Parts: sequence; structure tokens; C-alpha cells
Amino acid sequence: MRSRKPRAVAAALAATLGLVLTACGSGSTNQLGSGGQDSFQAPVAENPSFEPGTTMAKLSKQGSITVGTKFDQPLFGLKGLDGTMQGFDIEIARIIAGQLGIPADKINWVKTPSKSREAYIEQDRVDMVVATYTINDKRAQRVSFAGPYYNAGQDLMVKKDNTEITGPESLRKTGAKVCSARGSTPSEEIKKYIDPANLVLFDVYSKCADALRTGQVDAVTTDNVILLGLVNESGGKFKLVGKPFTEEPYGVGITKGDTEFCQFIHQSLTKAAQNGTYQKAWEATAGKVSEENPKLPELNTCS
Ligand code: GLU
Repeated sequence: MRSRKPRAVAAALAATLGLVLTACGSGSTNQLGSGGQDSFQAPVAENPSFEPGTTMAKLSKQGSITVGTKFDQPLFGLKGLDGTMQGFDIEIARIIAGQLGIPADKINWVKTPSKSREAYIEQDRVDMVVATYTINDKRAQRVSFAGPYYNAGQDLMVKKDNTEITGPESLRKTGAKVCSARGSTPSEEIKKYIDPANLVLFDVYSKCADALRTGQVDAVTTDNVILLGLVNESGGKFKLVGKPFTEEPYGVGITKGDTEFCQFIHQSLTKAAQNGTYQKAWEATAGKVSEENPKLPELNTCS
């Protein structure tokens, strides 16, 4: 379903979007990082006002926000060699920050591996987590989720020449070693399909990609869009099996019970979907590789 778009087409598309944005741009903007993504900027609200005592009032007054995200997931959350942050999660965070009146250079990014997300929110080490973070009941006992802002699905990544692994059902009979990240939903789900001894866990997926490259594992499992980024970076060495077998709705993780902040995030996402910012954020990031053209999913009720 998904395939690579020629870079030239993507660049032309990005350039067009840049022109559109420049033509109807207003005030200051939240600029995307380098790496050919500088054609899109999330708008920054000028002097927004919020109910005193709310998280929004606190963050807006402070003029900065701390966001937990991934640093090694191309297309969604990646810290470039020059220190710039890139990806769809990064843009979602910039969209929300922008609606608080906080520009991109006032966002403090904190590397938040899968297993640390709930704890970082509970310990107030971050104001929100935007990190390919699946909304589920277990996590919702410790944190609240705004969203979903995107729906992914668990998939498998293998070496390009692997013809044996065709889906999760093929893993047991081939005795495949499968790598995933600790504390992730895919690392739990995959236990239905393999023997425990064949599950290899690291803190981040980039280490799984290294293990696949060196032949220590036969497959990597996580969300299709994360794998797509790793396939794209592999120089033709890896491929996506391409049969998603779960639903992974991505939410913005916030302090448990902060309903007002959740509602504010929903308003920001809805506005971004209505004025085309959501679409442009996608096109400037994951949309450069994915053929998908997602719409903002129906949002959950904040609780
Ligand atoms: N979306 C899944 C999760 O939240 C996998 C991706 C990740 O580990 O960040 O666990």
C-alpha cells in the first residue's frame, strides 16, 4: 500500500506547499528543521489568553514547553546530526506549542524511549509526550491521552531478500528471532506469535535495525510507519512485510486527569486539520515516503 515517492516529486510538492504557506502566512511561525523540510511552519498564536490556573496558562506565560519524543525514528521523531528535530510527531508538538504562543525554538525536546513515557509524565519531566504513543487502557491508568492524531498498525521489517517471513503467522515455523523495543505494545503483541526465547528487546528501534543488519535477528516488529522510516534509511537492505496486524492509535500523553489541557490539544488538532496545517505537516515529513494521505481521526472524549 505504501511505497516511496521519488525525492524530486516530494521536493517539488514541498516547494509548492511552501509557496502556499508563504502566500497565506500570518505572523510568526514554528519552523521545521533542516533536511529539506524548511517549507512548512506551524503557526504561532500571538498573545493567546487562557483561564488562570490551567496548564495552558502556565506554559503560555512561561513561554516554553518540554516535550518527550523519540530521537531515532525517521519520519516521526528524529534528532538530526545538526541537532534539529524532524518528523510528524515533532510537527504535531510544534502545532500544539504554536497554539500556546510558544515558537519552535522554545520547545525543549527530551528523549523518551518507549518504556519511559508514563514515568516521564508522572514525574513532570515533560509537559507532554508526542512519541508514536499508542493509546490503551493500561497506559490510561497512569496518564491521560489527547487524540488520536494518527492511526498506525503493527508490522514486520525483514531483510530485502527474506521470502520466508510473510506475516506474524510465519514467524513460529521459521523459528525467527524478532526484535522490538521494551515497554512497547508490539513487544507484547508479538508474544502471541513466537517463543519467548526468540524475542530480543532493546530500548530503541534503531538498535533493532542494527541487529537485523548484522543478522542477529530475522525481523523487527513495531508500527508500520516507524518501520517505513527505517526501511527508507536502509539503502535498500530492508523491506516492510506490509500486512499490519494491530491498530495503534497515536495519542499525546499528558498528566492524568488534565482534561482542560486534553481539550485544548483537541482544539489545536481540529484547527490544524481544518486549516490544512495537519496535512502540510504530514506532507513535509512522513508523507515524503508514505503514499498515505491521513485525515485527523475522530478524537476521543477527554477524561
Ligand atoms: N505505538 C507503539 C507503542 O506505543 C509502538 C511504538 C513505540 O514503541 O513508540 O508502544
